[in-house]
Amino acid sequence: MSKIAFLGLGNMGLGMATNLVSNGHTVIGFDPSPAAAEMATSRGIGSAASAVEAAEGAEVIITMLPSGKHVLDVYADLVPAAQRGTLFLDCSTIDVADARAAAELAVGAGHRAVDAPVSGGTVAADGGTLTFMVGGPADAVDQASSLLDAMGARIVRCGDSGAGQAAKICNNMILGISMIAVSEAFALGAQLGLTDQALFDVSSTASGQCWALTTNCPVPGPVPTSPANRDYAGGFASALMLKDLRLAQAAAADNDVDTVLGRRATELYEQFVAQDGPGRDFSAIVTAIRAGAFDAQAQQS
Ligand code: NAD
Repeated sequence: MSKIAFLGLGNMGLGMATNLVSNGHTVIGFDPSPAAAEMATSRGIGSAASAVEAAEGAEVIITMLPSGKHVLDVYADLVPAAQRGTLFLDCSTIDVADARAAAELAVGAGHRAVDAPVSGGTVAADGGTLTFMVGGPADAVDQASSLLDAMGARIVRCGDSGAGQAAKICNNMILGISMIAVSEAFALGAQLGLTDQALFDVSSTASGQCWALTTNCPVPGPVPTSPANRDYAGGFASALMLKDLRLAQAAAADNDVDTVLGRRATELYEQFVAQDGPGRDFSAIVTAIRAGAFDAQAQQS
């Protein structure tokens, strides 16, 4: 069993750290939010007053933080303070370049580093069924694997440092684009007199089928468990989709790759989050598409 420092006990980190405790690991957490820290204590997660205190004597340091800047700031404090050979395991979704910089910092000081962003959201974080997309040297990934098993159901090693983040943002670029495509099809279908159910019955088993349609269907009815049936509450927040699309665009720009639809999807989610707010499931974009909100804006500009 490992002694683990867990930094970032928010919507995702709390459930992940709880699953590590349930699997017999000793977890010392730190989160500057008093509410998050209090909730963690009630789940059997040890409490520290700072990140450095949490990391004292830890064999593994796990981060689940909002952005690359948060991760790099924490690494700047902890890399010099940690005992040599500590495994730095970052599960946050961050820029590929930041992930590589964080790994270089850790490895340069004699530690091990793995990036392992997740797919699955809070339900999977609580249930221990996350998918991890993992980047890092094979021996470091092997060391991380029993911890990833405790928090997830599927682990895919994608390559060296940064490869996990690369897989995550490429996957979510597909998802953002495909949700817009599915939503446009429902908008057009309705104008052509098709019921949502009829279009679903065809496309869910034909060449248009994809996760955005068959699991997270943006219109209420055809998939009773999709967020559309509860006014888009829960699910994967539009602000997080926008974050991931922006990360994909940053990586595309850094690497001179022109992603025309990825760029347009980013613009549409920027407009949507500005209008609708950050919190509803990203499939709520269908409501703006059906209302012609983007057409009206295009004509104005
Ligand atoms: P969150 O905002 O709920 O949690 C982040 C936590 O980090 C907060 O509690 C914050 O107080 C804490 N924090 C900030 N600075 C810190 C520091 N220096 N040390 C320790 N803790 C610090 O965010 P979340 O939804 O848990 O997401 C975490 C990461 O997971 C993000 O990178 C996000 O993109 C990614 N992600 C989220 C989801 C989701 O459905 N929520 C799904 C996949 C990936």
